[in-house]
Amino acid sequence: MDYKNFIGGAWLATAESTPNVNPSDTTDILGHAAKGTVADLDRAIDASHAAAPEWATSTPQQRFDVLDFIGTEILARKEELGTLLSREEGKTLPEGIGEAARAGQIFKFFAGEALRQTGDRLDSVRPGVEIDITRSPVGVIGLITPWNFPIAIPAWKLAPAICYGNTVILKPAELVPGCAHALVEIISRSGLPAGVVNLVMGRGSELGPRMIDSDKVNAISFTGSVPTGRGIAAACGANLKKVQLEMGGKNPMVVLDDADLELAVDACLNGAFFSTGQRCTASSRLIVTEKIHDQFVATLYDRMMALKVGHALEAGIQMGPVVDQRQLEQNLSYTEIAGKEGGKVLGGQQLELATKGFFMAPALISETTNAMRINREEVFGPVASVVRVKDYDEALYVANDTEFGLSAGICTTSLKYAQHFKRNAQAGMVMVNLPTAGVDYHVPFGGTKGSSFGSREQGRYAAEFYTTVKTAYTLP
Ligand code: NAD
Repeated sequence: MDYKNFIGGAWLATAESTPNVNPSDTTDILGHAAKGTVADLDRAIDASHAAAPEWATSTPQQRFDVLDFIGTEILARKEELGTLLSREEGKTLPEGIGEAARAGQIFKFFAGEALRQTGDRLDSVRPGVEIDITRSPVGVIGLITPWNFPIAIPAWKLAPAICYGNTVILKPAELVPGCAHALVEIISRSGLPAGVVNLVMGRGSELGPRMIDSDKVNAISFTGSVPTGRGIAAACGANLKKVQLEMGGKNPMVVLDDADLELAVDACLNGAFFSTGQRCTASSRLIVTEKIHDQFVATLYDRMMALKVGHALEAGIQMGPVVDQRQLEQNLSYTEIAGKEGGKVLGGQQLELATKGFFMAPALISETTNAMRINREEVFGPVASVVRVKDYDEALYVANDTEFGLSAGICTTSLKYAQHFKRNAQAGMVMVNLPTAGVDYHVPFGGTKGSSFGSREQGRYAAEFYTTVKTAYTLP
């Protein structure tokens, strides 16, 4: 399969291409992806810019029809798209299908939102004058996405962008061109005018800066790593460009003595190791009070070691491979560092299985302190560490002692501690007796501190980023 770029309503090949490798079996090449150049990107920016006035004045019905078409088709093909996702990115098949379904639901949600756009009408403080406050599209938006949610993250940027009348250039991560291509192929048949959605695959370090420097691009929505995000924010600031960043996490999950042990272990197993730990909301720091600590670690260890690791498409597999060799090496190096710093490393070894893939056993590192690198830096793999604390107060302090602030969880049967944690955890999303990862599609998503910058994604809050507010005064 050749994945071409989609520019101005046409599928265009490039001189160079990149192989799309299955991380469960590196002999399985899914296809070759276009390697877009700066000239390709410039064409896509021009097409987006040219299409902007028409789409900005499209009716709510047109927007509903397009978004509903896309959502309906994704949901109808969720097994096929989920299989592609799992083959390309390595999450297990149920996880892949679940993510594809979620992408469909996001489009359906924003189809409804297209019909529900409202403004405010107020009387002026001056006699006889009326005021209308309305939302207008931002214009041309660059969407830069990571590899770990290859269909859901493009969907949660594309759907609101289209819903609120913008045009876009999607630049997906190099490792997952297949999902972006499949999504844009559906979009290409949805009735959207040419140029409203463009797809340019290629190197982020080459295309990203060009997108940000272009006068024709009005805003950038980025999800990815902290260093890339910081560079984008600085460049957007210099260009006075609207920007939204969703970046890393070092998400704490507090387990108190009064927690339901089975529930806490389930939540931590899911939060730390599902999707191979490759979730920005993964529970990577398990902060456990001392009376429950030993039993919690022993039970979680047993459950973790029982997880079936293997080829993402194989039935019964509970944890797929790591996405690529570089990420695998990073994970292994962090477990080694944690061991050298004094942590007790359980599991975490590289695995040789029937197919040649990037497999590792999940890792649990106990006896760590929050000052260790393993608790300060994002690993982005199936690696969780445990910090033993005295009581709730120390747990909250340790949970907040991080530069990140995406998601935070607590397992407790105490209403008092649950309420206090919800109010005082420094995170954009807080979970009580639920994994830190796993969120709904109709409510805002995003973090505080070093995890996010700009307005929230998803739900009705997406309008903050994808629109600009206009205040009109009229003397009738
Ligand atoms: P990454 O930063 O390497 O790449 C993300 C995207 O940015 C890719 O499309 C890449 O091509 C592009 N890019 C690279 N250099 C660029 C540049 N100089 N200018 C513009 N774009 C550039 O991240 P990744 O490895 O693909 O994804 C993993 C990271 O994403 C993790 O840190 C994870 O926490 C984060 N993530 C965050 C969220 C969230 O919502 N907070 C969700 C998923 C993933």
